Amino acid sequence: MKACVFDGRNVRVDPAWPDPRPAAGEATVRVDLAGICQTDLEIVKGYMGFTGVLGHEFVGTALDGRHEGRRVVGGINCVCGDCDMCRAALPTHCRRRTVLGIQGRDGALAERLVLPEANLVPVPDGVSDREAVFAEPLAAAIQVGRQVSLEPGYKIIVLGDGRLGQLVAQVMQAWRLAPTVIGKSPGKLAILSGLGITTLAAAEARPEKNADVVVECTGAADGLAMAMACVRPRGTIVLKSTVADTAGLNLAPLVVDEITVVGSRCGPMDEAVAMLAARQVRVEPLITAEYPLDRAAEAMEAAAEPASIKVLVRP
Ligand SMILES: [Zn+2]
Ligand SMILES: [Zn+2]
Repeated sequence: MKACVFDGRNVRVDPAWPDPRPAAGEATVRVDLAGICQTDLEIVKGYMGFTGVLGHEFVGTALDGRHEGRRVVGGINCVCGDCDMCRAALPTHCRRRTVLGIQGRDGALAERLVLPEANLVPVPDGVSDREAVFAEPLAAAIQVGRQVSLEPGYKIIVLGDGRLGQLVAQVMQAWRLAPTVIGKSPGKLAILSGLGITTLAAAEARPEKNADVVVECTGAADGLAMAMACVRPRGTIVLKSTVADTAGLNLAPLVVDEITVVGSRCGPMDEAVAMLAARQVRVEPLITAEYPLDRAAEAMEAAAEPASIKVLVRP
């Protein structure tokens, strides 16, 4: 099959990549549309040590198994069900997990993929492919509310106006919260204000250590420092960026101000699909471009452009 592959050095489209074979309990999915996110861009910089088919955001059609013939999205963590984390009902932290397009498992920038049947979530007819492909990052946004209590009246700051910051802000708005998004791109902030979300240009932000919760979605090494400047004493910082390099960052403010820092990753796919079906978030304005799979390497470059939000790839 055709697949967009990273070999540890280069990204290329391979016209004859081996077909993925489903193991027991797994299903084959024909990928109808895939999305590129920050994690993919970090992988091709070599951060995760992953090689193989890239991509973990997709909507497709199940070709076998109990969802055969149905449109599906899928949770990306493939778990053993048997380790201490799985037994403690923390399957996304499975010690032996593989992760679609990220760790030990070929991903979604391909004609087909395989995932455990249990990971697949059917997509209702009212949700288009271009909406459903956002289910995975939307679930990651929803996860913030599962980890941190967000009370009405809280002062909430979302740092970053990119792919994830846009979704986090929309999810919070749907939850009747009033986040302020601080970002650098006038165009991206304009999308948010168009949806009635309060925004602030980073250059004009005067951090006052007064936010109850700061959600850090900048994808930049200095995001945590900015979050520390914004959060109130005893407040909470939710870290969404997987930026490895924070060398030289002074963590003393976390101690002095008794800040809670919460790392946050994948969330509930079924809730994400439900939010899309209920029209609680608007994802169409976030689509920058759509490329055919043949041009997936070009799509990766386009996704890395500062002005782009979500770049899609259609096999
Ligand atoms: Zn992603
Ligand atoms: Zn496990």
